[in-house]
This record gives sequence, C-alpha cells and structure tokens, in this order.
Amino acid sequence: MHGLISVVGAGCSGLVAARRLGELGFEPVVYDQKSVLGVPVRASGILSLSGLKGLGIDYSGCVTNVLHGANIHSGGRTMRIISKDAIANVLDRKKLNDACREQAEEKGARVITGRRISGALLDDLAGKGVVIGADGAVSSVARHFGLGEIERLVLTYKAEFEVEAPDSRVVDLFFDNREYAGLFAWLCPNEKDLLEVGVGIRSGHESSKAAFDRFMKTDYVKGLVGRRRPVAEGASIIPMSLRSRIADDARKVVLVGDAAGQVKPTTGGGIIFGGNGALMAADTIGRHISAGAPLSDYERRFRKKYGLDLKLHSAINSIYSCLGPGAMGNIIVMLNALGIDRFLGAYGDMDSPSLVLKRFFLRSLAR
Ligand SMILES: Cc1cc2nc3c(=O)[nH]c(=O)nc-3n(C[C@H](O)[C@H](O)[C@H](O)COP(=O)(O)OP(=O)(O)OC[C@H]3O[C@@H](n4cnc5c(N)ncnc54)[C@H](O)[C@@H]3O)c2cc1C
Repeated sequence: MHGLISVVGAGCSGLVAARRLGELGFEPVVYDQKSVLGVPVRASGILSLSGLKGLGIDYSGCVTNVLHGANIHSGGRTMRIISKDAIANVLDRKKLNDACREQAEEKGARVITGRRISGALLDDLAGKGVVIGADGAVSSVARHFGLGEIERLVLTYKAEFEVEAPDSRVVDLFFDNREYAGLFAWLCPNEKDLLEVGVGIRSGHESSKAAFDRFMKTDYVKGLVGRRRPVAEGASIIPMSLRSRIADDARKVVLVGDAAGQVKPTTGGGIIFGGNGALMAADTIGRHISAGAPLSDYERRFRKKYGLDLKLHSAINSIYSCLGPGAMGNIIVMLNALGIDRFLGAYGDMDSPSLVLKRFFLRSLAR
C-alpha cells in the first residue's frame, strides 16, 4: 500500500507525470475540471524534434506540419534561420492531449473529468498521499499550499485563418517592444492552408486582444489574411518564470508544467520543459514512496538540470524586451553579417541555449 497519488490537471504535464507513475507501478488518479479535455485550444503546438523524443509521447497521429526554421523580423530587417533538416513539428494540441491521456490510461492511471479540485478537497487528497499540481499557470494547488508566485506572465491572443502561408516550412516572429513588449507577434503555418496569427505581451499594460488587433492591421498580415474571418480565436496566459517553490515535503505536494512555471521565456514554449519536469517529479515520487527520498529532491534536480538554460532563455527575453526595433534591426544586420543565421540553421537548438553556446565556442576553438 503506497498511498494515493493525485494529479490535479489533465493537460500534457499532468498526463505525462501520470504515465510515468503508471510505468513505475503506481495507479495515480488524475482530475480535471473540464468535461472534454484539451479544448478550447488556446495554445500553439510547435515542439522541437529533439525535445519531443525525450518525453516518450507517441505523437505520431498529431503532426499537422513540419518546420525547418524561422524568420526573425525587427526594425525592417529579417534574419532567416533555416535548416536543411526538419527541426520542429507542429502538433494538433487537442490530439496531443488525447494521446497523452490514452498513454497514461494504458499504463494504469485513472482520469476523472468534470471535477474541479480545490480547498478542503486538496487537503483531503494531500492527507492521503502525494498531490501533483499540474493545473496551469493560475494554479489553485500552488495558491492553496502557499508555494509562492510566478513573477512574470505574458498574455496572449491568437487566431487561425484559412490562408496559405507564404512558406509553410517556417514560422515568422516579429519583435517590437513598443507593440508587443515582453514577447513577440507570430505567424505559424499550422497546416498547409491554416495560418495561425498571434501575439504575446507582458501582463499589466493592455489587453492581448488590443495588441492582436494592431498586429492584424499591419501591412504584412493584412496582405496575407485580407478580410477573412478567423475559424478559431482566443486569449490565454503564459508563465515566464519558475515559481518560487515547486515542492513541499511538509504538505506532500509538487508542481509540474505551467503550474511550476516550467516554460522557456524566449518563446513561451512549455510542453518540453513541463514534460521533463513531470517525468522528474514522477521519478522522485517513486523514490519517495519506495525509499523515503524527500520530494524536495525533485526541485533540486530540476533547477540543477534546467536552471542554466531557463536563465539563458530569460536573459535573451530581457534583451529583446528592452531593445527598440531600431536596435534589434541593427543586431539582425550584425548577426547576418557574422553568419550567425547560418550557424543557427546548422547548429541551433530551440530548447537549450547553453548547448548552442557550447557548439559556438567549440567551433571557434577548432578553427
Ligand atoms: C498562445 C500560446 C502558444 C503556445 N505555444 C506553445 C508551443 O508552440 N509549444 C509549446 O511547447 N508550448 C506552447 N505554449 C505553452 C503550452 O501550451 C503550456 O506550457 C502547456 O499547455 C502547459 O501544460 P500543463 O499541462 O502544465 O498546463 P495546462 O495545459 O494549462 O493544463 C492544466 C489543466 O488543469 C486543469 N485544471 C486547472 N485547475 C484545475 C482544478 N482546480 N481542478 C481540476 N483541474 C484543473 C485545466 O482544466 C487544464 O486542463 C503556448 C501557450 C500559449 C498560451
């Protein structure tokens, strides 16, 4: 008898944690307030091939497009980073959530939908075993157990239009800290004839919809989308920094995914970091139950393994968030002149800036 393991939230992070716990021989119970999981879809699904490999999700039925690179625009300049090989998949987020659920259930997890968990119910579950908070950026679990705040948040708004993208192999990112301070605006070819248009802005200034409407009025977007109506649209939120604490031995609770702030602040991508956090949390819970290891091992190991990369992502975000488009445009000119666009096309890694820096210095030394 190893006590109950309750997972609050059946997004990707909660379901990846549940799948791993099932593989370890446990029978976690996953609760979600939604009666239909994964909808409405408010997020994009760009995931690096290398990152996806490590999560062990069978995503074969979810791929809608394959990306080879990105065009980075600012101050009227463009840096085109393109790889001859595919570097990322665009996944259908509803199908990805369904695949994660199916794989967790196959390994023995029980998923209960239409059930919101908060207040006394959380105390009850924590009294019976371990609770995993996988309930997103605005986490009731974190708030209830006093696990501190996520200091930086980005507000998003995105819509999909039935339009052919100019180049279906690349995503376009537009940096302008006067219009989209804190993140950027983007165009992503989700499918051959389905273009996603989105913006992310630092919270506390204006609504993400107002920034989105401005982006829609730019000549570039108007030229592509014209007067077409979106087939889907909506706002959401992205955590941009780790929560101050993500494990508590006294309360027997850990946080994973967006609830923990496991998101890379350069792009707002959270499935790879959140999924890796979920796998690590599940392994620690396994050792906690079988050998009495402290749950705080999870937080220590996560910060040790991913802390440097998250700090580098955060530093890059701070740089582009404080530079105006003129300065960003000049940086693009300089990077293009130095051949950094070609270097990133050949040796870039969407998830690990530390790996890119290592490759850069190793190549410089080898010359
Ligand atoms: C516009 C946008 C674009 C994005 N693009 C990408 C991208 O391209 N690539 C990428 O990797 N990431 C992207 N992300 C981030 C990614 O979507 C998140 O990091 C990821 O969804 C986090 O998964 P999660 O399981 O931690 O949380 P969530 O997906 O938020 O799931 C939390 C679940 O918990 C449930 N829940 C909440 N409270 C309770 C409660 N009290 N009781 C029961 N259930 C509860 C919710 O119903 C929900 O199902 C994007 C995000 C946005 C907003």
